Amino acid sequence: MADTQLWWVREVHNFGGFFGGDTVTLTATPAPGGRCDAVKETTLVIDEKALSNVDDRHAIAPEILLGLQLVGERVEQAELVAAREWSVLHTALGDHPPAAPLAGPQIRAYHCSGCGLWVAGTPSAEACRVCGTALADLPLAVMQLDVG
Ligand SMILES: [Zn+2]
Repeated sequence: MADTQLWWVREVHNFGGFFGGDTVTLTATPAPGGRCDAVKETTLVIDEKALSNVDDRHAIAPEILLGLQLVGERVEQAELVAAREWSVLHTALGDHPPAAPLAGPQIRAYHCSGCGLWVAGTPSAEACRVCGTALADLPLAVMQLDVG
């Protein structure tokens, strides 16, 4: 299994494309601190099937942080990790009614004051999963669904 590397989406070129596949073509740059700092801008083609937590590739937009598993230049898996704007993250995550009733509210994302990003999901071990800043009194975006 390839390591996950963080990449910023800088520009989305088109949605397509080859042989009837559902893809998004974009320019990305490695997030600071990534192992691939020597690489500057790279054009990547991501198959919609490789997007693990995004249903619609059209939701991929600039200023989204993706966790990519690359094999050469091929994107094996792409996970939406964070975005600068809540509205962008919210749209890209889409609406997913839970398969089963929830016992309580679920954390959809949190805002980290360390990296200034909205990060999808629950913080791990009370630290930001992007920058590692310890988190206290986080503004959380909570998704609560009726369980009735
Ligand atoms: Zn952070």
